[in-house]
Amino acid sequence: MTDDYKELLVKVAYQKAREAEEEKWRRENAVKEASSFSTVITNCARCGETHQEIKMVSFRRPIMTESGPAWTHWATCPTTGEPILCNIEMD
Ligand SMILES: [Zn+2]
Repeated sequence: MTDDYKELLVKVAYQKAREAEEEKWRRENAVKEASSFSTVITNCARCGETHQEIKMVSFRRPIMTESGPAWTHWATCPTTGEPILCNIEMD
């Protein structure tokens, strides 16, 4: 077996492992229905104010990091119009 051939086999194995990982991720993070609830936000991350009855909406696919979901929900700051991101653990 030549070194070039071995290198090719390693590349193919790596590619397959990567595709399997991506497929697993897609299954686990399949698009879900968004859900929402209203809550009070104090010390808003965008403007620093308190907002009453802000609609928090779940991401259909949370923003992920290697250690798990970083952001699961979002809302819109009524003062700036910018997004407020939250990580809310649901049972
Ligand atoms: Zn705000």
